[in-house]
Amino acid sequence: MANYLTFRWILLGIGLTSIVSLTGMNVYSLYSLHVSTVSNSIENQKNQLSEVSEQVRSRFRTPVKNIWKLNMEHIQFSVENDEDTPDEFLEMLGIAAVDPIFTEIYFSGPDCNACDGDGRLQRFNPVTNQLEWVNEYPDIASDGLYMARIRMLALIDNYRWKTRVLFDTHRSMTIALINPGDHTIVGYLNFVIKTDFLINNYLGPLLSNAFADEKSGINVWLYDWTKDEVLYATDLTQEYERSNVDIIQQFPDLLDDWNLKASVNHNPALASSRSSFYTSLSVMGATVLFLIGAMVFMFITAQRERNLAISQAGFLANVTHELKTPLSVMQAAGENLADGRVNNKKRLISYGEHIFSEAVRLRQMIDKMLDVAKADAGKLVQNAEPLHLNKTLQSYLDSHASYLEQKGFTLQFVPGESDPVIFADEDNLKTILTNLIENAVKYSSDEKLLKISVNQNDINHIRIDIEDKGAGIPRKDQKRIFEKFYRVEDTLTAKTKGHGLGLSIVRNLTILNGGKITLKSTHCKGSTFSLHFPVHIKHEISTKNDKRDRTAAEYITK
Ligand code: ADP
Repeated sequence: MANYLTFRWILLGIGLTSIVSLTGMNVYSLYSLHVSTVSNSIENQKNQLSEVSEQVRSRFRTPVKNIWKLNMEHIQFSVENDEDTPDEFLEMLGIAAVDPIFTEIYFSGPDCNACDGDGRLQRFNPVTNQLEWVNEYPDIASDGLYMARIRMLALIDNYRWKTRVLFDTHRSMTIALINPGDHTIVGYLNFVIKTDFLINNYLGPLLSNAFADEKSGINVWLYDWTKDEVLYATDLTQEYERSNVDIIQQFPDLLDDWNLKASVNHNPALASSRSSFYTSLSVMGATVLFLIGAMVFMFITAQRERNLAISQAGFLANVTHELKTPLSVMQAAGENLADGRVNNKKRLISYGEHIFSEAVRLRQMIDKMLDVAKADAGKLVQNAEPLHLNKTLQSYLDSHASYLEQKGFTLQFVPGESDPVIFADEDNLKTILTNLIENAVKYSSDEKLLKISVNQNDINHIRIDIEDKGAGIPRKDQKRIFEKFYRVEDTLTAKTKGHGLGLSIVRNLTILNGGKITLKSTHCKGSTFSLHFPVHIKHEISTKNDKRDRTAAEYITK
């Protein structure tokens, strides 16, 4: 049986794991699909941004577009021999110098280390249209030239072209002039970039023209990632937020510390992919919950059915056992009598009493079992009617007072404040009370007190408490005593006759009459069984109900 149970748990585990892993896989593939759709759908916008980056590159080359036409050998000759700079070279510098994107233009020979300030550096003077020697070495030009020299040292051996453009981020552009014939460097031209102009007069308008229009569907920020600073935004109303960025476009090999970041505002393909992604997720989530719910429900139902089958088998075994005991006693006594061996009058009477008492016990048990069966089948509520509790309980207790007195009990009855009325079958209520009172009698030994009180704490509910000061019920048994055949395992219960059916009948009957039963009990101190019923006819109740001193009517029998 244990194996069977383990197997069932294992199956449930496998089922749940499969559902979870299948869902995980589906969510993953849905997500990948969504991501690829997103990346496809923003491909167009990505291309536009990359186009901008290309435009910036060619913007820097425009003022020096004729540089490749220069005769590098002439320039080299003039540098090495301190001769006049060739006119075509100066002409090209003159064109570049009027471009507002540059502030200054410097020229140095191949070995000049402007960085240390010991080299020989010339600045182009656009007024005289000449290169003039300088004594000061501005930082930006020095850094740019130094960086270019280092990089060219590594490149020059395999370099086949006449020029090489190198950027020191957004600060300066250096063009290495090369004599491709013998792979030597002729010199370096350094163009100091006017950053303000670049941002506000060139890049800004370029971005705004391309993206400020709503139709573009994106907002673009020019962003300096080294300073974590937005330099320009196409839409000032949208605050830059890292989480909103869908596309990042670099400026390869130029403006290294800047990039373009864009957030996609509206894109029909993106919107539909997003909505179908979330719809699929919700549908899948609901289906999975439903599947898991159904599995767990089936598991619990199967478990319950199994428990029921076990308890029915247990019930049958118990019934058979309980019936056999009195029958065996009766059989043995009857056998002895039938043999005619018992002549002694006293023994004859004793056998007769045995048979009688066992028959009575058998009868009581069969009656109780019939009650259990009927209560189980819900057939015991025959005549539900409005019952005036005070009156019903009073008359019931009147008829039982002498029995309780015989048993040495003090009976207290505290009727309800108003005239509480419930809707129930009177016979059922009597059966319930009889069982509870019988138990109080059976399981009280030292202090024999039985208190029955009717309480109403709110307008809708009534509570009947049946309280004794008897043996009490250990906490661990309290949950189970309403089960059929369950008896507490202690000496008092062992000594007391019973079948463990009374409380099961009580609970079923209470439920069938629309109520419920609860128990408060302390081992060795007593028990209070409370019957809760809905009120049938509502009376206004005093809010001070509980505080009022209601004296118990004590039954003192003479
Ligand atoms: P039984 O025929 O054994 O009395 P019940 O179903 O009426 O069967 O009660 C189940 C068990 O609950 C009893 O065997 C007893 O151990 C415990 N019990 C019931 N009522 C009381 C009580 N008033 N005080 C102490 N124990 C009780």
